[in-house]
Amino acid sequence: MKKHFAFVSVPAAGHVNPTLPLVAELLRRGHRVSYAVGRALAPAVRETGAELVELPTELPKVGRGGQLTAERMKMMLDFFCDDLRASFPLLRRHFQDDPPDAVCADMMTPYGRMLAEELNLPAIVLMPSMASNEQFSLREAAPAGEEEFRAGVFEEMNARITEVAAELGVRPVMPFQPDSGELNLVFLPREFQLAGETFDERYRFIGPLLGDRDQQPWQPRDPQAPLLYIALGTAFNDRPDFYRMCLAAFAESPWQVAMSTGHDVDVAELGPIPDNFEVRASFPQPAVLRHASVFVSHTGMNSTMESLHAGVPLVAVPQMPEQFINAGRAEELGLGRRLDPAALTAEQLRAAVDEVAADSGIRANVEKMREIVRSCGGAVAGADALENHLA
Ligand code: UDP
Repeated sequence: MKKHFAFVSVPAAGHVNPTLPLVAELLRRGHRVSYAVGRALAPAVRETGAELVELPTELPKVGRGGQLTAERMKMMLDFFCDDLRASFPLLRRHFQDDPPDAVCADMMTPYGRMLAEELNLPAIVLMPSMASNEQFSLREAAPAGEEEFRAGVFEEMNARITEVAAELGVRPVMPFQPDSGELNLVFLPREFQLAGETFDERYRFIGPLLGDRDQQPWQPRDPQAPLLYIALGTAFNDRPDFYRMCLAAFAESPWQVAMSTGHDVDVAELGPIPDNFEVRASFPQPAVLRHASVFVSHTGMNSTMESLHAGVPLVAVPQMPEQFINAGRAEELGLGRRLDPAALTAEQLRAAVDEVAADSGIRANVEKMREIVRSCGGAVAGADALENHLA
């Protein structure tokens, strides 16, 4: 039986990218997909052939610097409430007129699940970050010293979202909350998930979904020199100070460096670019990683998985709490090293990259994890799980 799936997500690359190969697989099997998302990711969604339902969502810019400060948390909170108020009525109207058979809702987009409840449909939660349950909660995993601050923020979030949900006449659902969907597709292997063995059959660890992104055209300038790839993802990446440190660390080195700076940094503000660097606002990351020997990464979950999928060890420079968790997990599993980005010097960064590159133990662990990451089932397993769930 052909089904109609509604996908709902915030317009963030890290949330939408991993869902696109799943959408493509569902379409290939003859199902219908309507995908609700803000304009920034609309072209990528359209390219799959899914029907776009454009939402007014625009992610706030987190701005320069690393920490998830009170001010930034408040910005995110305002965003969640404003976006819920603006997007949910549109979503409700659209899908009341053209009802789907199930809603596949991004974990950070609570109104996807609200829609499912409103229309009395199965809710499938899409998890590009670690999943949460009673044993492990992404919401509660705060860096030491910030527990109280974080608890306060989440308390306020609950109160404000509850208020907006009441205005809209729906039961409130919180972003990142540990209570899960009836089916949860997690885009990482169980082996990388914290407390992985405690997740029951409602959680399917289908691994990263790269589609053919690692086949995009990109070649290193020098086929001989070892390649170091540096990137901080798409959100907490406005760090010219960090990129300058990287230039200093690797200017006089045998490394050939590809460095992604994001769209908010002007390359001119980084000063002279050494000959062994290629600096761009964005690279076709999975394609670059195919050639890389080490990845200096913020360890967002997508980047972490793309690195492991390519068999590349990590040097982690996490920028916000979730990335600290991923970085810690990568180090714990012997897949690389975690650095303290607040106290980091160019010398330490250089030393860490050289050490990780030379570490045969890390290489062996990464190789094992590469096999695991590639055998999780991906888009096919995800589509099978959806079909079985609705059967
Ligand atoms: N990305 C990319 N080119 C770049 C930087 C990032 O294609 O130059 C992609 C990367 O492949 C990944 C996503 O953007 O799929 C970033 O997601 P992640 O979860 O790593 O971090 P976030 O951007 O959410 O902080």
